[in-house]
Amino acid sequence: MISSDPKQVKAICFDRVHLEGQTGLEVARKNGAYKFLPTVLKDFDSEQIVDEVKKSGLRGRGGAGFPTGLKWSFVPRNTGKPTYLLCNADEGEPGTFKDRDIMRYDPHLLIEGMIMAGFALGVKDAYIYIRGEFLHEANVMDAAIEEAYSANLLGESILGTDFSMNLTVHRGAGAYICGEETALIESLEGRPGRPRFKPPFPAVEGFYRCPTVVNNVETLATVPAILEFGGDWHAAIGVPNNTGLKIFSVSGHVNKPGNYEVPMGTSLKVLIEEYCGGLQHGTVPKVIIPGGSSTPWLTAEHYDTPLTYDAMMKAGSMLGSGAIIVMDETADLIALTRRLAHFYAHESCGQCTPCREGTGWLERIMNRVEAGQGCKKDVEVLNDAAVHMAGRTICALADGASAPILSLLKHFPEVVEERLMENAE
Ligand code: SF4
Repeated sequence: MISSDPKQVKAICFDRVHLEGQTGLEVARKNGAYKFLPTVLKDFDSEQIVDEVKKSGLRGRGGAGFPTGLKWSFVPRNTGKPTYLLCNADEGEPGTFKDRDIMRYDPHLLIEGMIMAGFALGVKDAYIYIRGEFLHEANVMDAAIEEAYSANLLGESILGTDFSMNLTVHRGAGAYICGEETALIESLEGRPGRPRFKPPFPAVEGFYRCPTVVNNVETLATVPAILEFGGDWHAAIGVPNNTGLKIFSVSGHVNKPGNYEVPMGTSLKVLIEEYCGGLQHGTVPKVIIPGGSSTPWLTAEHYDTPLTYDAMMKAGSMLGSGAIIVMDETADLIALTRRLAHFYAHESCGQCTPCREGTGWLERIMNRVEAGQGCKKDVEVLNDAAVHMAGRTICALADGASAPILSLLKHFPEVVEERLMENAE
């Protein structure tokens, strides 16, 4: 049960995930699902909802951290076109595994959040774009949506009001790039998932060139609590400009990897030592990747950094999706970087030359370095390619591909040096 006292709030999105039978509508309702929905549909109007979400300070939990209420306020009204709501459940960033747990254990929370968001935005048709590999989660969502339709929580005249909304699960085919909102839209329209140039942004011209809001699963699942307890309540959790709780997916060399929902502003050290049981070897991490594999690495000197969008940026990285990959002194950083280079080369959609060619070069050189066949010139080319790829492409995949390379060269040049062929230029 979520506390109305912001100081006592221990969980928002994960409040009910541990309850048995929570995926079924009857049990979910007994546990509080859809409790506040009738009040929202009857007593709130669109402006009030957007205002509460703005007041809450909620920032998108998918990676960019853009203020959700502000995003909603960009949607033009009375355009004569439909407005669409798309839930981004692609969750392909290596290291991230939080959204799947919300869908797997509390699908009705996401549905409720989508109905409230859809009501605020005047949406008639909403979609959940889920990655194809999440077969079980997609089945759970489908079953929950079917039950919600039978209980008139979805479909025509929801709960006897004049608001109607359809919700459909769309299964992706497993491309990482479809987690980028415009590639997701392309894919949902039936084309290959390739990012579009922005602007226009989806809020103005998105799905079928109509106004579209794309929100992450965790973002939408936070909305019911914000509307029930108020924007000020949410804003009082965490720290200013980084409010609320956030789920961090922690993996790597910690004793208890998993998802942890903690107040924004908790330090990396507290999360790793108090929640995750500390490191497997040593006392301070060698490398921490704080926001998924596409974010720049942090090292031991950043161990006390608070988990906020702002502090991570100040430390030279990003909070991203909150996927924290921790490596202790036993990590083979060359193997890690080579593996990530392969991933990004494989996932590049190929539209932009710096990304299409650059990711291939990074992978080929890292293969040589790992095999002990690299030379000094290779290191120069690695650095050059990574520097020139970043910021020169349609989407951020190229930046993500260059982040591990530049981090390795910046923080651990001696590790690369040791692997090079002796005496080779
Ligand atoms: Fe495609 Fe890479 Fe360009 Fe993104 S940066 S649009 S993934 S080629």
